[in-house]
Amino acid sequence: MARDARYDILFEPVRIGPVTAKNRFFQVPHCNGMGIVYPSSMIAMRSMKAEGGWAVVCTEETDIHPTSDLSPLIEGRLWDDRDIPVFARMNEAVHKHGALAGIELTHTANRDACLFSREVPLNVTHAPAGEGHYPAQARRMDRADIRNYRRWHRQAALRAERAGFDIVYVYVRAHATINGNFLSRTLNDRTDEYGGSLENRLRLTREVMEDTIEAVGGRCAVAIRWTVDDSIGPDGRPDLAEGREMVEMLAELPDLWDVNVRSWSRDSMPSRFGHEGSQEEFVRFVKKVTSKPVVGVGRFTSPDTMVSQVRRGVLDFIGAARPSIADPFLPRKIEEGRIDDIRECIGCNMCVSADFTMVPMRCTQNPTAGEEWRRGWHPERIAPRKSDDNVLVVGGGAAGLEAARALGHRGYEVTLAEARREVGGRVALECRLPGLAAWGRVRDYRLQQIQRMANVQLYLESHLDAEDIRSYGFARVVLATGSRWRRDGVGRWRSTTIPGLDEVHALTPDDIFAGKPVEGPIVIYDDDHYYIGSVMAEKLRQEGHDVTIVTPASDVSIWARFTLEQPLIEQRLHELGVAVIEKHGVAAAKAGEVELEHSQHGGRRSIPCGTLLLATMRLPSDALYRELIADADALQAVGIKSVARIGDCHAPSTIAAAVYAGHRCAREMDEPVAEIPFEREMIALAPS
Ligand code: ADP
Ligand code: SF4
Repeated sequence: MARDARYDILFEPVRIGPVTAKNRFFQVPHCNGMGIVYPSSMIAMRSMKAEGGWAVVCTEETDIHPTSDLSPLIEGRLWDDRDIPVFARMNEAVHKHGALAGIELTHTANRDACLFSREVPLNVTHAPAGEGHYPAQARRMDRADIRNYRRWHRQAALRAERAGFDIVYVYVRAHATINGNFLSRTLNDRTDEYGGSLENRLRLTREVMEDTIEAVGGRCAVAIRWTVDDSIGPDGRPDLAEGREMVEMLAELPDLWDVNVRSWSRDSMPSRFGHEGSQEEFVRFVKKVTSKPVVGVGRFTSPDTMVSQVRRGVLDFIGAARPSIADPFLPRKIEEGRIDDIRECIGCNMCVSADFTMVPMRCTQNPTAGEEWRRGWHPERIAPRKSDDNVLVVGGGAAGLEAARALGHRGYEVTLAEARREVGGRVALECRLPGLAAWGRVRDYRLQQIQRMANVQLYLESHLDAEDIRSYGFARVVLATGSRWRRDGVGRWRSTTIPGLDEVHALTPDDIFAGKPVEGPIVIYDDDHYYIGSVMAEKLRQEGHDVTIVTPASDVSIWARFTLEQPLIEQRLHELGVAVIEKHGVAAAKAGEVELEHSQHGGRRSIPCGTLLLATMRLPSDALYRELIADADALQAVGIKSVARIGDCHAPSTIAAAVYAGHRCAREMDEPVAEIPFEREMIALAPS
């Protein structure tokens, strides 16, 4: 198919100083939990994006010196020449597909405590260092330190050029870089030529820019990554006027402006709290101030929105981290007129969680993300089927849909049976909760693909039992029958049933989805710690109920801090008037109240309760699986060669895990599977 002419503008080449990007698709720097620790995985992931048509592919933040040691986070590192080969290999792979490679050089100042290098962190002034309240401090830089920092940055730029990068970034962000901290009115208390006036605070960034241009300019493009609302005024609010003045003062110095907003949770805005293109109001002034190309982000997945951004003069490049993870082939699909094939990012930020948990990135929509090298999974290609076996998939949730889609892609004859009148499983239910509509894309993408496959048949309102399954004559059976919420309060905090539970009106999220009536006041016992407790609270509060969330953790929805949602959840609950009781579990229930117990010191108190909503943990709906495998002879008699269980019916987990399980099941059908089914990159031992 040819591309739609209205998207032509997205495929115009754009000059960035001495280099030219072949189109407007720009993968901005993003962390991935692979970096220098799992280099071949990182390289294959970046290479995939170049193959998928992105004109520019950048690294994650890459620290330039042991005084900027990001450990234990897994990012890039360019301390000396021995760090060059990883990037050289990445660049070779990226260049092979005609893309430019960019590197985001950084010195993180006091953001990191240098836990690996054990150097003393450097900063604009004395300040606490490190994340997670680490009890260390950074020291104030003197003139010699500033000279050293400029030298390290210059050397890193030269190394980046030798590694083959086309674009070298100077990174400016308050609370995250030396440049940004010097620039900040609130963080910079210096009285020398680097403190006080805006010109003084900007001096270091200007010097580093000039050093970088002097070192590699003319051969590499020099980009600046800038947080437009970093400047905080005397009233404690962003001073956008000063932000604009800063951009004006450096307007023509860099070859490219990469602009975004402060705080990662607003930059990588979860879809629950923000829409596509949500940064526009903050960044649109930049193009009016500079003649240099501008790149910005906004979880762009719609080509019409992208075209609008370019035509209205907001951005020159469509920047993307998450949309490029969910679909590395997004540009190619637009180019080839395959808009319906785009696997749109749902804005859940599971990808971001991998950075915090320091493991290779995973993605809810793209199960091959992070698996490109270690499992050899390509997001668009899959091995053809190895047998004529037909496959019955039971359950059309995320796991079943993905299994059916990927098996269908391999060419198997697949039948997907779903008990309900719609597919999607819990995704279909949860995407109707406040803010979660975009999550429905997990279902929509797969359903649309399946509907175009002649070899995949979908049957709705088809609740199957063991007898049905044995009678149909399928060679392979895949059970994706999901899970249900526990009704007894057992979870992480308590391992026995809540005493007195039969005295209160106790429900689970499944009951809420089924429309069971509630009576206030509602107490949500959230021992799940991700989104369900808070999103149920939001729904019930919007319906006018008095809602309290009780959690044994120190913060409500504590795991959602890894998806950047936690602070936004707290804000939302506060605005809605949902009461939050942290560090408490439900110890007992009786008519009209629940007794809470402090999860640390054990103190007890009671609160009124009309409905107790139990969101603690789920149990697999695996009765069908157990019944089928209990009678191996009966299976053999009807020619069923294998019965597999996948997703929540195997063990309840995230939607990302269900999609991954469905995909893996399809990949492994008729294939030999090693005991450790992925490659590992072993550390080369130093000579003894
Ligand atoms: P997962 O996340 O593992 O995909 P879900 O709970 O989202 O799990 O989806 C499971 C799906 O399986 C639900 O849509 C449910 O209606 C369906 N299902 C459960 N049991 C059966 C059955 N016996 N026959 C057909 N469909 C079933
Ligand atoms: Fe988008 Fe979620 Fe995938 Fe991240 S994990 S790229 S937010 S779909």
